[in-house]
Amino acid sequence: MRELLCEYGRRAVELGLVLGTSGNLSVRRDDLVAVTPAGLALDRLTPERCPVVDVGGHLVEGDLQPSSETPMHLAVYRTTPARAVVHTHSTFATVVASTMRELPAIHYNVLQLGGPVRVAPYATYGTAELAANVQAALEGRTAALMANHGAVAIGESMEEAFERARLLEWLCEVYVRASGVGTPALLTEAQLAAVAERSRTPPTFPRRS
Ligand SMILES: [Zn+2]
Repeated sequence: MRELLCEYGRRAVELGLVLGTSGNLSVRRDDLVAVTPAGLALDRLTPERCPVVDVGGHLVEGDLQPSSETPMHLAVYRTTPARAVVHTHSTFATVVASTMRELPAIHYNVLQLGGPVRVAPYATYGTAELAANVQAALEGRTAALMANHGAVAIGESMEEAFERARLLEWLCEVYVRASGVGTPALLTEAQLAAVAERSRTPPTFPRRS
């Protein structure tokens, strides 16, 4: 679990999803959660530097303090089936989170996140209030934006949560860039429903005889 944090911490820095010590990652197994430590850049982690806490928030292992955003991670684990949480301050997600109340359906891939992505109202970082706001914004979704702060994505594995964080950043970049060209056209509920139906019944190609 801790090696996963090191691997994906490096990838998050390489891909520009986080800067320096901003952003944090966690992964859950049973009632234990390995989380990135406070105050350490995500590309400088080693497994033994990553603390382990239980879902109730008690430190189980590690010399360093868990990330200050750990209450948010734990709130997600207590209320969703997630097994990994990725929190970033990626640029375009933060732009959208600072200007809008929701990332609208500019591209059908938003369905991979459960639909248009809500912006959780602002609260001070690391607080129970922020954790509750994010938890509410995640209802029926696998990602949320955090007003004037960043983004969070969840998944059944670290890979899935990480890919969703990348997708959210890409969707926000498309929206921001499209807004600079003109007024972005948005997909209707009917168009999104048609996409969902299409993904349930993918086309099949008969084998040539
Ligand atoms: Zn943050």
